[in-house]
Amino acid sequence: MYKNRYSSQPVIPEHERVYHYVSGELHKYLGYHYPLSIIGTSDEPHVVLNGSHLVLYTKHPQDRGEIAFILDMWYREQAKDVFVPVVADAIVKAAPYKISMPKLRIYKLDDRWGSLSQKSKILVMNLELIKTPKPCIEYIALHEVIHARYPSHDMGFYSALSNLMPDWRERENILRTKFPI
Ligand SMILES: [Zn+2]
Repeated sequence: MYKNRYSSQPVIPEHERVYHYVSGELHKYLGYHYPLSIIGTSDEPHVVLNGSHLVLYTKHPQDRGEIAFILDMWYREQAKDVFVPVVADAIVKAAPYKISMPKLRIYKLDDRWGSLSQKSKILVMNLELIKTPKPCIEYIALHEVIHARYPSHDMGFYSALSNLMPDWRERENILRTKFPI
């Protein structure tokens, strides 16, 4: 199986990475690297993660723009499926701090993993998080949720974070060193 969480691939910030959308090219999902396998089909375009490959079915296997689009749509679906329960878990975890469920928005951002607007109660999570290990997604969700109670990175914030997720530094370090945006 070609799966490698801490791959020997050079670590390039995700927004600087250039993808060619050809078979064999590695693409990330939940911290693993999967070779893309592009297959022509007369069916509707779709993507299947078969354990070792990210298999993308398309009517136009040579059309890289379309392949990029299909893959992006797939990432967005996965992000919704993964992030919603992760945010719900973070809210449950943060129950002692009496934080209510924010509205979740998923956007592609170049400069941050997430943000929380206290006023509108909107939690934005970076779509690119779907490419990182799940413990890192959990860390970002909890970090942002705690901002509902502690808006700045003050002592109260870090004490809540350490209390609810004692290993948050390791998770942050994995993001910084292995999955920079
Ligand atoms: Zn923060």
